[in-house]
Amino acid sequence: MLSEFDLIKQYFVQDYAPDPRFALGIGDDCALLNPSLGMQLAISSDMLVSGRHFFPDADPYYLGHKCLAVNLSDLAAMGAKPLAFTLALSLPEANPTWLAAFSKGLLTLADAHQCRLIGGDTTKGPLNICITIFGELPPASALRRDAAKAGDDIWISGNLGDARLALAAYWKEVNLSEEFHQQAATRMHQPTARIALGIALRGVAHAALDISDGLIGDLGHILSASKVGASLYADMLPSGPILELQDVQLRREFTLAGGDDYELCFTAPVVQREEVLAAGRSSNTAVTRVGQIEVESGIRVLDQNGEALDLRLKSFDHFSSP
Ligand code: ADP
Ligand code: MG
Repeated sequence: MLSEFDLIKQYFVQDYAPDPRFALGIGDDCALLNPSLGMQLAISSDMLVSGRHFFPDADPYYLGHKCLAVNLSDLAAMGAKPLAFTLALSLPEANPTWLAAFSKGLLTLADAHQCRLIGGDTTKGPLNICITIFGELPPASALRRDAAKAGDDIWISGNLGDARLALAAYWKEVNLSEEFHQQAATRMHQPTARIALGIALRGVAHAALDISDGLIGDLGHILSASKVGASLYADMLPSGPILELQDVQLRREFTLAGGDDYELCFTAPVVQREEVLAAGRSSNTAVTRVGQIEVESGIRVLDQNGEALDLRLKSFDHFSSP
């Protein structure tokens, strides 16, 4: 039986080359960080709870990936560069097979972003994973939710809806072939944090956030923080490749109010259109213009003729959903 400290050493302590930013890592009461001179720290936590955010029998490699990816996505949405993270883990048992796969999924993604695991906590209990992530950015360059201005374009990175489509297929709300279900489910299991795009949008975009609970609801957070409204063009929203093959009603519903997309929604002045497209190219990320910020509050969803659609969509909320 693994002791708590053996478990940490075996699965979560990595060998790194010395780096002056990391004065002390795992092993003491606290980790010690030296943030780069003159940089601001961006800090965020996200908790994933078994049975709530993932199925209890979820593949541990994907789970390791996903719980870090959703935290990286918060840094991306702020325009911050990943630095380090802590991992608070509650486990029903110390299962070596599970732990090996989980730490591999987690640390492979961490290495890809040069984001170092510097500490955490491990306890026995229901499966629950909480990561706190630290990133860096120059002062006054953060892409905040309260910075949208009337007249800004609204942009979306990548594409939306395939993660929600995979869930709908799992719940048998829609019929998908096994092959399409697998492809859509990749979006649910392995979200991509748009770190390079977020950094490239510093000084270009006004406001940004990452879409985790559906575009309409999440865009609503930018609108209320910035005290503005918006029009969205439903049929300009980029659908995921599998959702793209479905009928228009489902495409509208799942692009507007899907969930688990982890794409960026951001606003930028019209004069910055070329710079936004350049940021997309330099970060190898598709960017699509999907609407405008307006003075009038609320969200108006329009069809291709500019007619308002009455869709009665609702975004995901843990406390008002079943
Ligand atoms: P304490 O009793 O001070 O909380 P712990 O025994 O919980 O210390 O942890 C020992 C060391 O291992 C600490 O440096 C802590 O940050 C680190 N640690 C504990 N759990 C994890 C984990 N799941 N991932 C990474 N580091 C961890
Ligand atoms: Mg502890």
